[in-house]
Amino acid sequence: MGIIGVDLDNTMFTCKRSFSYMLMNKFQFLRSDDKLKYKEIDTNEAKEVHPIIKNFHKILNPASYKAYPEAIETINALYDQGYHIYIITSRPAISPIVSATVAWLKENGVKFDKLIMGCNNKGEYAKQNKVSLIIDDFDKTCKSLDKRGIDSILFKGTLKSKKKFTINKKTPHITIMHSWNTIKEHIGECISKIGEVVEETGRILVDQQNQSQEI
Ligand SMILES: [Mg+2]
Repeated sequence: MGIIGVDLDNTMFTCKRSFSYMLMNKFQFLRSDDKLKYKEIDTNEAKEVHPIIKNFHKILNPASYKAYPEAIETINALYDQGYHIYIITSRPAISPIVSATVAWLKENGVKFDKLIMGCNNKGEYAKQNKVSLIIDDFDKTCKSLDKRGIDSILFKGTLKSKKKFTINKKTPHITIMHSWNTIKEHIGECISKIGEVVEETGRILVDQQNQSQEI
């Protein structure tokens, strides 16, 4: 079974982000060159979130993160099927944010193999770590995966959305989906490598090996 990468903010859950948090998130990568940067978190070493810290900002208070419907259920089902689940986020790997993130994952019973934080280039991380597919809400992330021939699901969900998924013809490794229910139903088709895109609402799955035999 392959490795599935899942983003946190605006993919697994929504969380109010302040301007200062956005700045901090960007600032952590300012000094880095193009080198891949990330930290693998040892969840056993994460400290508890201090009650006072929780009140500083919503990002530090796991109780304020709102999970998308079916997100946790889908991730846990994939884990139980044997997929390796890597949670890959650009959230800064600094103590209070790590604590809040780990606390939320534990409190909500999310099953996963690795938690990667402070990741500045998910495309490169996926390539180097043989990730089969990443679910992420950020277009740029999906494009950087597409460039490397790695599949992704561009999650454009709202808390209520039940829209059908659509496909961007210029980026064959990206499938756009609007709810975790759709992801649950169609993820198998996305992992099976690229198919020939025929219309807005569907894709034909082409077994690449069979195709090359025919040619
Ligand atoms: Mg995100």
